[in-house]
Amino acid sequence: MWRAEPNEGILFPQRPVCVRFPPGGRPGAAPSLIGGHDGAVEAWVVDHPAPIDDGPLRRISRELPVPGVGQVRVRVSCCGVCRTDLHLAEGDLNPRRSAVTPGHEIVGYVDALGAGTSRFAIGDRVGAAWLARTDGTCRFCRRGDENLCEASTFTGWDIEGGYADSCVADERYVYVLPPEISDEHAAPLLCAGIIGYRSLLAAAVSTGGVLGIYGFGGSAHLTAQIALHLGMRVHVLTRGSHNQELARTLGVDSVGEATDSPPEPLDGAILFAPAGDLVPVALRALDAGGTLAVAGIWLSDIPALDYDADLFRERRLRSVTANTRRDGEEFLRLAQRFGVRSTTVAYDMADAPRALSDLAHGRFGGAAVLHN
Ligand SMILES: [Zn+2]
Ligand SMILES: [Zn+2]
Repeated sequence: MWRAEPNEGILFPQRPVCVRFPPGGRPGAAPSLIGGHDGAVEAWVVDHPAPIDDGPLRRISRELPVPGVGQVRVRVSCCGVCRTDLHLAEGDLNPRRSAVTPGHEIVGYVDALGAGTSRFAIGDRVGAAWLARTDGTCRFCRRGDENLCEASTFTGWDIEGGYADSCVADERYVYVLPPEISDEHAAPLLCAGIIGYRSLLAAAVSTGGVLGIYGFGGSAHLTAQIALHLGMRVHVLTRGSHNQELARTLGVDSVGEATDSPPEPLDGAILFAPAGDLVPVALRALDAGGTLAVAGIWLSDIPALDYDADLFRERRLRSVTANTRRDGEEFLRLAQRFGVRSTTVAYDMADAPRALSDLAHGRFGGAAVLHN
């Protein structure tokens, strides 16, 4: 099984190399870094989960957060829209607290430092993602599985996320972003990209093997690029002409409807669509010994499985739960090396409900990004 070496390419040395701009920001860049702030933050919150077209998001103004010990404050440049945000808004994913601000694909610029911080300076560009914090001491953290930490907190679920113009983040969980990638194109890498990468590891396909991808949106289109660069043959099975077209433009080996049979048995598959009825479909498409990895945090009910048709001959079904920081750092390194390109659709931050509605109705291919 391939796995990028931690120091491969020396792209992320100990002391992060950051894109740094003077106070006032890069000429023409989205946010000014310091000043011009009136001490208030505009933010979207989920009050009462409801179908997205019934308006579960509300825009509020609240006090500018003060970074605590070990935290940096991030002036949000843009924030990607993830399907998890939709699950949160619609109540498929129970809110961990009331009036939480969604958004966990945050690209921004450090504009205040809490006590005890040392990684970043004012003006550094950073990315804040889903995993906001772990305890570092539980049995999962100690064995390197911090994605399973039972005391973890998540951005845009436990703590305020990036559907706002400012937020705070623990500096140890913040990523340095490849400088070649713009704010808008970096945002989808932070969840869609990282979770997709972990799912690709979970699907356990060797270099040169055959990968099936069920559902093709923000996460899948990044994962497919990594898989193709690693020499895999990639078959995409998805509904929706936008998604199918996006897959074709990336040069995958075949594109079919979600319930079609791929042209050859799959060594591994990833289910990105939140559709449990595709689980037996994908299991049947696996070769003996193949693995189906379910990428999503939420899945509709899985129908009863037929042991012989769906699982026997050592096929495996597994889930993917969040990610470790190592996953994130590896993925960003590969994204830089392979020139992974996110296909994005830009929305104004004020249009967050419309972006979520468009995601719910499959009105675009790729990833929506909200801009301040
Ligand atoms: Zn832990
Ligand atoms: Zn996400």
